[in-house]
Amino acid sequence: MRLAAAVLAAGAVALAPGCGGDGSGVDPMPLDTLRPTFDGEAAQALVERQVAFGPRIPGRDGHGAQLTWMLARLDSLADAVETQAFTHEHTQFDATLELTNVVARFRPEATRRILFLAHWDTRPFADQADTFAERQMPVPGANDGASGTAVLLQVARHLADDPPSHDVGIDLLFTDGEDYGPNLPDMLLGARHYAATADPQRPPEYAVLLDLVGDADPSFPVEGFSRGFAPEVVDRVWGVADALGYGAFFPTSGGPFVQDDHIPLNEAGIPTVNVIDFEYGPDNHIWHTPDDLPANTRASTLGMVGEVVLELIYRGLQP
Ligand SMILES: [Zn+2]
Repeated sequence: MRLAAAVLAAGAVALAPGCGGDGSGVDPMPLDTLRPTFDGEAAQALVERQVAFGPRIPGRDGHGAQLTWMLARLDSLADAVETQAFTHEHTQFDATLELTNVVARFRPEATRRILFLAHWDTRPFADQADTFAERQMPVPGANDGASGTAVLLQVARHLADDPPSHDVGIDLLFTDGEDYGPNLPDMLLGARHYAATADPQRPPEYAVLLDLVGDADPSFPVEGFSRGFAPEVVDRVWGVADALGYGAFFPTSGGPFVQDDHIPLNEAGIPTVNVIDFEYGPDNHIWHTPDDLPANTRASTLGMVGEVVLELIYRGLQP
């Protein structure tokens, strides 16, 4: 993902913890007491497993190894697994990228659906690193790639073990080519492909993107484009976080505007919010560097995000 520079200036400073909640005095929404508890430790293990494949850069060994592993895992958990293979001609380099989105569906026959997504690829170059040598290195992608993927893979496990009692279908989308770059024409590739091929007659009721959801010092202020495109989804997601007691970590103001996979989906008519902690380490100093390693992600943070996702899923489409 990439910050939208023009609107960054005032909005980029995250609120300090303690500024959560909307202060409206409205009672928090009731929670679904029957849902499973999200296993954050299992999600952290899934982050470590992904990073161990090596960088998940299209065309590299780690990319193929992760795809095989993800498909095997999802085949054993979901009701249906689809792949979307596609290519992208790079706009700057003489390269054709071979990319694959993965969609794991639960209750594929259901007409009313909710979509959750995360990118599974990693960035070829650590362009935010301090030294020239480091900037030639790939990003390991523990937080930027593996964290959101790990949460959704673990969600798939919980859905398989404890199917929700309602009849809303759940789709988990793992996008490829989000972070190739270096610039936006060669990013968000999987989300663009998904949006271009989605059935306009049957869009999901709403969608939630997870990106950078594993930092040791979590803060998920409402991302700017999310509020503009999908204010009702913002209210739902941040309302659930507040009801779970995470309001201090999900402030309802102060978030940056980030160009990310939610943009193509929103432009295709799928109201989508981006749950993103765009301060990875103090001053975001770990983002897009070789230090994006599992030592810098936390089971507790993955667990908190996973709890929000499970609550959203198990409550179905009730307000
Ligand atoms: Zn990135």
